[in-house]
Amino acid sequence: MKTNQNYKKLNESYLFSTIAKKVNEYTKNNPDKKVIKLGIGDVTRPLCKSVVEAMQKAVLEMGTQDGFRGYGPEQGYDFLKEKILKYYKKRNINLKLDEIFISDGAKSDLGNILDLFSKENTVLIPDPVYPVYVDTNIMQNRKIIFLEANQENNFLPMPKDDIKADIVYLCSPNNPTGAVYDKSQLEKWVKWAKQNNALILFDAAYECFISDVNLPKSIFEIEGAETCAIEFCSLSKTAGFTGTRCGYTIVKEDLIFDEMSLNKMWLRRQTTKFNGVPYIIQRGAEAVFSEQGQKEISENINYYKKNANIIAETLKKHNIWFTGGIHSPYIWLKCPSNMTSWDFFDFLLEKAAIVGTPGAGFGKNGEGFFRLTSFNTNENTKEAMERLDKIL
Ligand code: PLP
Repeated sequence: MKTNQNYKKLNESYLFSTIAKKVNEYTKNNPDKKVIKLGIGDVTRPLCKSVVEAMQKAVLEMGTQDGFRGYGPEQGYDFLKEKILKYYKKRNINLKLDEIFISDGAKSDLGNILDLFSKENTVLIPDPVYPVYVDTNIMQNRKIIFLEANQENNFLPMPKDDIKADIVYLCSPNNPTGAVYDKSQLEKWVKWAKQNNALILFDAAYECFISDVNLPKSIFEIEGAETCAIEFCSLSKTAGFTGTRCGYTIVKEDLIFDEMSLNKMWLRRQTTKFNGVPYIIQRGAEAVFSEQGQKEISENINYYKKNANIIAETLKKHNIWFTGGIHSPYIWLKCPSNMTSWDFFDFLLEKAAIVGTPGAGFGKNGEGFFRLTSFNTNENTKEAMERLDKIL
């Protein structure tokens, strides 16, 4: 029995375990200090009322003879897909029901989509980056070219004529940098993809944080994207589904590569290897798209955005360079006094009992940068920024 030797090439990720170790040590030595965690990448607000009620109703339905459901359609129930279709229609994006695939979250689909592509393809991945894109390609031994994101390009790398690749990952609003591509920038990426016969894997997991109507929430707002892009979306950050698990992936019927329809291939892949998202969860997800649901989730999103704003204002006051924080739950800042990411981590913990995430953990270009998140409470975020203000 032979194993997949590519797993040996994966970098051990010590980022979050090292953070936990340092925080534990600090708490042990400073038992009376309240540590405030602004490194949280998970949501903290509870599910909204509409979602809870819809799921409760679905549970009761499942306990009746008439309402019981067994295996559902692998690609999701029409009642949810219809709501997503309307959600896109509001932005003048026309989808067909068969182009929407309900998933148990964006992470699974971002990894699973690679089943459709040859291992000979070259992938282009921004650095710094959400590590899933890198690791899933290492597992399949694909050649990776890193796309330099840095302060000069505001962490929004653009295509160059000499870059040749078959697949590119774009994430906007970005994790970890919070940076958001505008329409003209995404138009350039679509143009590049078409010229190079390449595919864009567009991660829109944080689209709900965009409040400027001029900024694209979806790659399909860009003309021509339907023949060169797949979009991954998630209710994790939109509606607090990180533990509930539901997302959706858009694979357009126009997407033909190598004489094969990616839509048909993805349907075949999902019907073979995936048995769908639970009915109860899909009813909860459906409620997210109701008028009342949208109102309720926006209260939570605004709660996080208020925190991001408090962080951003403090950084501005001290002339600290940052991206994100306006259309994103993440704030990506340049460590003051040219500190390294880990030096700044230690400084914040020791001097202010604040925990964030060192940028170096997201790739080599993250060195010297630091990620703060807006997922803590308003009170804690305010207190943390008062402390930061003092030590700066
Ligand atoms: N994409 C990005 C950029 C993320 O940051 C995350 C989660 O943190 C995901 C996808 C995964 O989302 P999901 O919970 O839907 O799997």
